Amino acid sequence: MKIIVLKFGGTSIGSIQRIKKVSKIIKSYSKKYRVIVLSSAMSGTTNKLINMSQKISKNFPDSEYDTLVSAGEQISCSLLAGQLLSNGIKSRSWMGWQIPILTEGSHKYSRIININKTKILRFLKSGGIPIIAGFQGINKDSNITTIGRGGSDSSAIMVAKFLKAERCVIYTDVEGVYTTDPKKLNSAKKIKKISYEEMLEMASLGSKVMQPHSIQDARLNRINIEVKSSFVRKNGTLITKRTNIINNKIITGISSTDNDAKVTLLGVKDRPGIAASIFKPLSKNSINVDMVVQNISSNGKETDLTFTIKSFDLNKTMKIIKRNKNINFKKMIFDKNVSKVSIIGVGMITTPGVTFRMFQALAKNNINIQVISTSEIKISVLINSTKVTKAIKSLHKEFNLEK
Ligand code: ASP
Ligand code: MG
Repeated sequence: MKIIVLKFGGTSIGSIQRIKKVSKIIKSYSKKYRVIVLSSAMSGTTNKLINMSQKISKNFPDSEYDTLVSAGEQISCSLLAGQLLSNGIKSRSWMGWQIPILTEGSHKYSRIININKTKILRFLKSGGIPIIAGFQGINKDSNITTIGRGGSDSSAIMVAKFLKAERCVIYTDVEGVYTTDPKKLNSAKKIKKISYEEMLEMASLGSKVMQPHSIQDARLNRINIEVKSSFVRKNGTLITKRTNIINNKIITGISSTDNDAKVTLLGVKDRPGIAASIFKPLSKNSINVDMVVQNISSNGKETDLTFTIKSFDLNKTMKIIKRNKNINFKKMIFDKNVSKVSIIGVGMITTPGVTFRMFQALAKNNINIQVISTSEIKISVLINSTKVTKAIKSLHKEFNLEK
């Protein structure tokens, strides 16, 4: 029998009633597959634990943080295994250290580098359903580690990789991945199949269905992922490699961000290395610069430079720039009311004219484009935040995503 990994997110197991419901879903797979379950903590638990640590100290030690927050998954996994056992199904909970799930890197942000399959395989062969704690592992010094918020998606993908599962099903509170945020546009459609590359763009650009790291892990290891709801019985979205997808659409989805800020430096003294001088101190302070445009200077001496950052980094960014003695400019202006809207699709690689169609659709709706950036499968524009819904609506229509 093939192995399948089922991962349940916090809301899917958010109450005892939900845990009972989920145990039925698990059972329904057990006739066809050897099932491995990965669980996150019950919704709200991880936050509660973090809050407690913050009351002790704002600088609560990272190593104890990991031991503390990993407790959330211990609760949910034992409840789930207990539920299965009382239904007469052989099951057992496994914490990361018991397997072990070996991680590397610093506390709070470790990475899974190996998963020992011996015990899990033996348990599967004996007919048991292992319930494995997501989000946690152990390092070579035997310390408990965690792998970053939302990390149980990654745990599931890595378990699927090391145990050679046929697929990994991510059970969550949404029905799948949509062409755009259904809260912003009610004609948004569920996508049947999407490639890893497209999903990565959608995830990192703001569609909060799965943690972006986990999609990268799945892409590198070619793990098929199905995202579906544990609340309704409907097909979800399959995230897979490009060659598994036949799609007649040029664009697969549209995403938008809502906390960007734009900074413009006017009259920057132009010389080789100027861009590096501006951005080096920003990167040193972990400020993520996203879109950048630099004009060619008309007189060869001065130029204007615009870039975007997250709005919570705006004050820090302005301070760093003012303090920077290596650059010379006339004036700094900023705008917090900007959003990035992106169209994403592998179809654009082979289809000419996509950029034009996007710009024309926005122009027809009187939406001014402030900054543009592109990659092989994505075109992003920066626009005024008040126009986001209108932009999404017009682009959704332009690229026939409602059908
Ligand atoms: N329980 C962890 C968190 O809340 C991991 C997860 O949910 O994936 O971040
Ligand atoms: Mg979660």
